[in-house]
Amino acid sequence: ASGYNLLRNPHHNKGLAFTDKERDTHYLRGLLPPTVISQDLQVKKFLYRIRQYQVPLQKYMAMMDLQESNEKLFYKLLIEHVEELLPVVYTPTVGEACQKYGSIFRRPQGLYISLREKGKILEVLRNWPEMGIQVIVVTDGERILGLGDLGCQGMGIPVGKLSLYSALGGVRPSACLPVTIDVGTNNDKLLNDEFYIGLRQKRATGQEYKELVHEFMAAVKQNYGEKILIQFEDFANHNAFDLLEKYGKTHLVFNDDIQGTASVVLAGLVAALNLVGGTLADHKFLFLGAGEAGTGIAELIALEMFKKTNTPLEDARKKIWLVDSKGLIVSSRKESLQHFKKPWAHEHQPIQDLVDAVKDIKPTVLIGTSGVGRTFTKDVVEAMAAINKKPIILALSNPTSQSECTAEEAYTWTEGRAIFASGSPFDPVEYNGNVFVPGQANNAYIFPGFGLGLIMSGTIRVRDDMLLAASEALAAQVTQENLGKGLIFPPFSNIRKISANIAAKVAAKAYELGLAGRLPQPKDLVKHAESCMYTPSYPNYR
Ligand code: NAP
Ligand code: MN
Repeated sequence: ASGYNLLRNPHHNKGLAFTDKERDTHYLRGLLPPTVISQDLQVKKFLYRIRQYQVPLQKYMAMMDLQESNEKLFYKLLIEHVEELLPVVYTPTVGEACQKYGSIFRRPQGLYISLREKGKILEVLRNWPEMGIQVIVVTDGERILGLGDLGCQGMGIPVGKLSLYSALGGVRPSACLPVTIDVGTNNDKLLNDEFYIGLRQKRATGQEYKELVHEFMAAVKQNYGEKILIQFEDFANHNAFDLLEKYGKTHLVFNDDIQGTASVVLAGLVAALNLVGGTLADHKFLFLGAGEAGTGIAELIALEMFKKTNTPLEDARKKIWLVDSKGLIVSSRKESLQHFKKPWAHEHQPIQDLVDAVKDIKPTVLIGTSGVGRTFTKDVVEAMAAINKKPIILALSNPTSQSECTAEEAYTWTEGRAIFASGSPFDPVEYNGNVFVPGQANNAYIFPGFGLGLIMSGTIRVRDDMLLAASEALAAQVTQENLGKGLIFPPFSNIRKISANIAAKVAAKAYELGLAGRLPQPKDLVKHAESCMYTPSYPNYR
């Protein structure tokens, strides 16, 4: 046990916080300058340093360096300054980091499984140094955020998501495994970039793709058992729905783009009912964008209507309309629709333009999930305002440049009557002497607590009822004071408490459904969740 190695081990390093006694017993004398400081002062010092960087990517790289040199300090900083640092370690900055991953990359993070590892994936998994893995986030890099195919450089996403699992959901960092499956990329810019880190070939598809993913899924279960949680992240929708459906039957899988988004948006809508009145079944929904996010949210809304108001699922679905790149989804298009759109092909004449769809369908809720910015034009928003006293408008496309409209536009064009939330953060808006605070429908509200709930109950399958439970738990955290400001999501500063509540409700549902393997069921699940949560304070080394 040399002091030198201790300083270079990110799991154990305390830097200047090693006490005099520890410096004596662990051969650290002389390897550090004389001063001994507290972890709190280290947080303050690092925050000071990071605030000096003007460029977000520099802040990101500083955070990654810290994660690789002093993990506990990284997490303490992230937990205590979550509102400031979430946009640094995750969206929007992580997107830029992925685009430049080839050149900023210092030490490899996570596990890379490429076509070359075919037939050997189990061995590759065994190269990972930790054994007690509880959650894997895996991407194939084909649809990174709204940035498209980034191939192997999508690794930034599983790494970032898992940092949030630990910081916000309290899953131990050593129990988290980021994975990127590299089957090539169709991004010519990357293929021609001499610094690109992935396989230099077009994406494998069809049988070849399926076989690699299948070997991975089988190897994971064999190596870690059936309680391992596998979160699919940023797969293109032509694979995402199929993988979720297929592996949902045999593995504990969760797709954050479909299910996590659905759960967080439903929570916002349930909270918004406090402002607009009625039940979900009293409302009518129109989506722009019918992909993973759009149809995922639509399905969960219909399910909640069914569970809460006994509206038959078919009738519930009829209150929900979606527009894709070809216009309103209607029954005459049914034959040519992808399977995940078919439930939404209702009887109606075709409509091309969103504004005409708004005028004709008369929705109370308008949700943007197309990835295309500036599509909630003045006409569209004014049409919503003409139909509704309090129109609910959710502009969910990311990053900020792709938002369907800005917060300011939503409030101004509705004369301050809109209930607005977005995918990317917007600052508060003053209109006619009132200050409106737009909420952010951030998936980070749900997936860390959701995952903790699955893990702590030893669940082996994800069910939609668990997603509904998570939505209701999140909606219940929105206070009257939040609602008073127009906020339909709670502030992030309480996120660990929120996650514990979500985890408890998800676990309770797992026990109720007989899907929980950890018995007996703890009496107080919130307390139990809190006691399971990782905290990043330093231990004393004897
Ligand atoms: P996706 O699966 O690729 O779906 C995109 C959908 O938008 C498709 O149905 C597509 O139509 C449609 N579309 C594209 N251009 C359009 C246009 N000009 N007019 C109308 N529809 C158009 O993508 P996704 O995963 O659902 O993500 C969509 C967006 O939602 C992204 O910007 C993402 O960042 C955002 N998002 C936000 C959150 C959040 O706020 N928490 C969570 C998840 C995703 P076709 O089917 O006809 O091609
Ligand atoms: Mn995602």
